[in-house]
Amino acid sequence: MDYIVFDLEWNQSNTGKEPEVKELPFEIIDIGAIRMSTDRRMIGEYNQLVKPTVYQHMHHITSKIIHLHMQDLQRGIPFKEAVSDFLQFCGDDYVFCTWGTTDVYELRRNMRFYGIEPLSNGPLKFLDVQKLYSLSFEDGKSRRNLEYAIDALKIDKDIPFHRAFSDAYYTAKVLSLIPEEMLDYCSFDTFLVPESKEDEVHIRFKDYSKYISREFDDKHEAMIDKEVASTKCFVCNKNIRKKVRWFSPNGGKHFYSVAECPVHGFVKYKNRMRKTESDGIYVVKTTKLIDEETYLLLAEKRRQIQESKKNKEKEKN
Ligand SMILES: [Zn+2]
Repeated sequence: MDYIVFDLEWNQSNTGKEPEVKELPFEIIDIGAIRMSTDRRMIGEYNQLVKPTVYQHMHHITSKIIHLHMQDLQRGIPFKEAVSDFLQFCGDDYVFCTWGTTDVYELRRNMRFYGIEPLSNGPLKFLDVQKLYSLSFEDGKSRRNLEYAIDALKIDKDIPFHRAFSDAYYTAKVLSLIPEEMLDYCSFDTFLVPESKEDEVHIRFKDYSKYISREFDDKHEAMIDKEVASTKCFVCNKNIRKKVRWFSPNGGKHFYSVAECPVHGFVKYKNRMRKTESDGIYVVKTTKLIDEETYLLLAEKRRQIQESKKNKEKEKN
């Protein structure tokens, strides 16, 4: 399997000059990619300007960052043609790799806008090199910009930044330095969420697991779903008894719960509520083992939230 490391530049509406097209807030104008072999050597490149059809004025931020002007883009080819060339370059056994999570999403959104099937009818697996960089060299939570990583890893800056091709090239350089075992930590683009229960994503990593649900009408409907609300042991996958019932410390954005497996100990669940394109809700659940101290902290947090709820109700009456 090859790695297709790609980067996009896009343009957006200039308020006042052109209204925003809701289905295409970001129009792709530049596609750059590096193909890497399984052992992560650079074995091919793709570089293509795209002639815009939606936004005919360059947004000031776009031109400032990427030094592209409308007359440059007239040399480009239409998106449909570009994406077809690009997918031909990708071949049929590859995984996408990008810096951050937005490029895969915008590629798929642009594809759908032009009536092209957006690569999969549900979540699409890819490698987020920005995340892998953090997991490999920092705390796993930080998100650095590409140039920061290039400096920290002492990679030669032999071409200028901020064009699709150069950013793909530097992302590939970073990818080549990620330890092999970290490549298991894949990501999923959720431009489209699972269509049905059967299509839902269940994936287990070394130290945590992830579940991506289908779409629900709202948070309440999601949180009463059997799978969303379930508390299974991270190791043996058995349903285990809750020690801390589901609670949300931030008004329903995230929900937490803790359960205890008699064999494997305390397990923490975090349900993130995320909006779909059609204003529904889908859930990303992460599950991991925790120590007793973390369990006690979460139990205390829930107790405080329940207490302040009670006090508010008392005040009302
Ligand atoms: Zn267990």
